[in-house]
Formats: sequence, C-alpha cells, structure tokens
Amino acid sequence: MKSWPYFPNQILSSPDTGRHEMDERFMLRLVLLREELGFPLIVTSAYRSPQHNAKVGGRSRSAHLAGRAVDIAISGDKAHRLVRMALMLGFTGIGIRQRGDFRSRYVHVDDLDKAPGIPRPTIWSY
Ligand SMILES: [Zn+2]
Repeated sequence: MKSWPYFPNQILSSPDTGRHEMDERFMLRLVLLREELGFPLIVTSAYRSPQHNAKVGGRSRSAHLAGRAVDIAISGDKAHRLVRMALMLGFTGIGIRQRGDFRSRYVHVDDLDKAPGIPRPTIWSY
C-alpha cells in the first residue's frame, strides 16, 4: 500500500481487510483538495473490498471498489467550501447528504470516468 499525506492507511483501508487499493490519480486530487481547503477532512469511508461494499449496501459499481471515492463527514460552511473546491478540482461525482443531525451529514467525492452505466459528471443527494 502506498502512503499518502493527511490520510493514514488505516483511514483509507477497507475495515474487513485493513488494506486499501486507492487509485493514485484520485489520491493526488484528494491531497490537493485537502491542501486547497486548509482544514482537516474526516474520511468515514474510502477503499471498500467487495465484501465490505456489500455489507454497507454500496452499489455494485461503487467508486469505492475502485479506490476512487471517499466519504467525508462535513456540514455547514465547510461542506459548501468542500463542494465548491471539489468541482473546481475536477471531481466528477459528488453525492451530498446534508439533512438531519450534523453528525450524519457527509459529502461523497469521486473521479470516475464517464462510461456505459456511469454518468459523469454528475451530482446526487442521499
Ligand atoms: Zn461514497
């Protein structure tokens, strides 16, 4: 596993295996996002093994399986800044959950390429 600044391997790994296969180009973009924002990003889900993805109800073609997505716990003005910067930096998939208690609010970012069954760029809500 390659190591990255700001995001320890434990945070990036699938909880069931303790390993990750994060995509290098995605991680370069994520590190840039972190540096541009200038505040810590709390990653709640990154790489997922197929088994873990099924367990958490992830879609079968989830970007998490490819190591090309993270979910970030964030709300309020920081969520606004995150989404704006993610769009500027070329993330192509942005999923937003910003309802209910702030502790359940998060933003998903990925950089999947457009392909059959994978509409990109896109944005959605949970
Ligand atoms: Zn996600």
